[in-house]
Amino acid sequence: MTHWLCVLVQTPAYANLGVGLSYLSELPLPPGTLVRVPLGKREMLGVVWDADTAQATGEIEPGKIKSVAGVLEGIAPLSTSWQQLVTFAATYYQRSVGEVALAALPPQLRELSPAQMARRLKRKSPAKAALGDWEAERSAQVKGGGRRPGDTEQSALPPSLLATGTGAPALTPEQTTVLAQIDEHAGPFLLFGATGSGKTEVYLQCVEQLLAADPDAQALIMVPEINLTPQLEERFKARFNATASPLYGEHAVVSLHSGMTNPQRLKSWLAAHSGAARIVLGTRMAVFASLPKLRLIVVDEEHDPSYKSSEGARYSARDLAVYRGKLEGAKVILGSATPSLESWHHSRPAEDGGRYLRLHMPSRVGGNDQLPATAGALPLVRRVDMNHQPRKAVFSLPLIEAIKERVARGEQCMVFLNRRGYAPVLHCTDCGWKSECPHCSAYRVFHKIDRTLRCHHCGFTERVPRACPTCGNPDIAPLGRGTEQLEELLAELLADVKRPGSMTPGNPRGEPLRIARIDADSTKLKGALEEQLAAVHAGDVDVLVGTQMIAKGHDFRRITLVAAVNPDGALFSADFRAPERLFSLLMQAAGRAGRDAALGAQSEVWIQTFQPAHALYAALKRHDYPAFAAQQLKEREEAGMPPFSAQALVRAEARTQEAAQAFLNAARAVAVNEMPAWDGWATVLEQITPYPAVPMTIQRVANVERAQMLIESPSRAALQQFLTAWQDVLHSTRSLPECKGLIRWAIDVDPLLI
Ligand code: ADP
Ligand code: ZN
Ligand code: ZN
Repeated sequence: MTHWLCVLVQTPAYANLGVGLSYLSELPLPPGTLVRVPLGKREMLGVVWDADTAQATGEIEPGKIKSVAGVLEGIAPLSTSWQQLVTFAATYYQRSVGEVALAALPPQLRELSPAQMARRLKRKSPAKAALGDWEAERSAQVKGGGRRPGDTEQSALPPSLLATGTGAPALTPEQTTVLAQIDEHAGPFLLFGATGSGKTEVYLQCVEQLLAADPDAQALIMVPEINLTPQLEERFKARFNATASPLYGEHAVVSLHSGMTNPQRLKSWLAAHSGAARIVLGTRMAVFASLPKLRLIVVDEEHDPSYKSSEGARYSARDLAVYRGKLEGAKVILGSATPSLESWHHSRPAEDGGRYLRLHMPSRVGGNDQLPATAGALPLVRRVDMNHQPRKAVFSLPLIEAIKERVARGEQCMVFLNRRGYAPVLHCTDCGWKSECPHCSAYRVFHKIDRTLRCHHCGFTERVPRACPTCGNPDIAPLGRGTEQLEELLAELLADVKRPGSMTPGNPRGEPLRIARIDADSTKLKGALEEQLAAVHAGDVDVLVGTQMIAKGHDFRRITLVAAVNPDGALFSADFRAPERLFSLLMQAAGRAGRDAALGAQSEVWIQTFQPAHALYAALKRHDYPAFAAQQLKEREEAGMPPFSAQALVRAEARTQEAAQAFLNAARAVAVNEMPAWDGWATVLEQITPYPAVPMTIQRVANVERAQMLIESPSRAALQQFLTAWQDVLHSTRSLPECKGLIRWAIDVDPLLI
């Protein structure tokens, strides 16, 4: 007998096809089955979808329907809840289900034919089926620079972590309370815990309890950037698949992130899908991992913007995690020292409408008796009033003095500035020429190291001209500062300071200070970041200069002074989320400082500001996130901004700014003027504010003009209804004559950058 199937394939985002394509099969394949299907002249991966809920395109004549080319044997069908997750994500983020489903699968599944796949699965011994050759993978990872050079299983762990071996430490009272609450309630939970309060330990123990109680259970642990947090991976592996005493099998922990090779990713994916992997550690993409026995999801650093995808379906992995938890009956823990204001708001008391349970761990783990009393103390926040400093000072005198004092004692300092390069602009003092990018509405940044002007938007790079290209004046000068210049300046200011030296060979007393810079430029080469981080950890660096890259995620235990050179910009940004990001960045930076209790020094965070009395810095000084959040939420509520409203952005790219805006405005006109004739539309529209199209902040990138339109509503449901109905209008608006030159458009639901 022949069966009709609805099969999802990777459709171009806006092909505007139905949900799936129709195929025939001799066998009745259940939804979720992975198949290869012919499409045009090619053969591609497809997922059998539920024909009852999916509308297969009926336009093909029955005689022309092709048959499924093959089934990926040995891989169980994807679960119903996985299919529901994908369907929800596609619907909510306004993309095709095929696109979301196929993008959620490891790339290599798309490439291998059923025969190749079968060979691959068969090569493994039965016990290891779907697991693959782990030792080979591990050594490939080490060789491939996925870890720090020379890393063996546990070497990256600071001795303080190894002290407890694979066993868990005795819990602090706060941890005990929190774990009991997690056990008792359904969640979702917002674990609001200071950096160093032992959140990771809570995750570890939750997982441990879960795995001990349920022989099949699986846990998903998400981190914003796994390459920046190799320590988490080490900690999980040390706890759960330590080679000495594997608690849950040697391969209980697998990773899923884009830094892995395709074969590694496939292997991890299969291990999770088969149930062999008990713990999956991953970045945002891991939210779509197939985990048949998922019982726990942890989203660490839940406020981090990297959880939001910026291409394809612009999904928020954090929000999907909460949805998925509900769908699959898995507990969800969102953790952060500075939660997103959305999550903070959701975790208000249930009486006020809160949906998450807020758990609080305010204290840093103090270490044991042998450690000095300062060990668990929060760093001191100092504001330097730059109004009282020499007018052009980059570094205030007291900051330089403080840095000198620290390095003289053998401590490390970290200085950050959110701008890489030497200077953001080069300009001519005679005619006013500036180093604009010919392809973008932005200035090219001056990089002194290789004497180039580089566009940070399109990448266009040229050598610095000898003289002003407009008037020939040889005296062209940098304006403003980037990290390169800070590094240079610090070297001058600290020239008379010598290293205190140490007992380690090759680290003699009296050498010049070592200043290092970590930013996107210094870490371009594969493995460079790991090498530079290792140098910081090894104590080969005295002062570290960098962008926010260094403030985030890394555990720099020996850094006792952190300085933000010029953070004021975010206080007055047009982006309403800028203060939230700044506060979180500074709190994270403060949390990094001085975690090496053994040093015993009181660590400090220095803020150079022209606004020393600003509420944000005042709250920071008290380490008072709740006060900051309350103030921000009040402002947001008054202005009707998220989380008190729902937003979507439609972005359009075109050859001309006129076409980009015309497209958006035309589609808006249809929604406002023509669609009200539709049944029920008026009620939807009443709750929607579609703003007029505006150019994006960086209006032109690589000669493409960009415009956007904000759609706002107090009701998420109304916004969803509006977008779903409006999609068709956007599709058809494209062909209007005034939209000639439109290249692409996309909807971003719950956008983070506006
Ligand atoms: P967070 O994730 O909140 O930043 P961690 O879980 O990394 O905090 O804990 C900070 C440090 O304290 C780590 O070195 C960790 O090993 C240690 N630690 C955590 N919980 C305990 C505990 N109950 N007893 C002793 N040390 C602990
Ligand atoms: Zn000039
Ligand atoms: Zn450019």
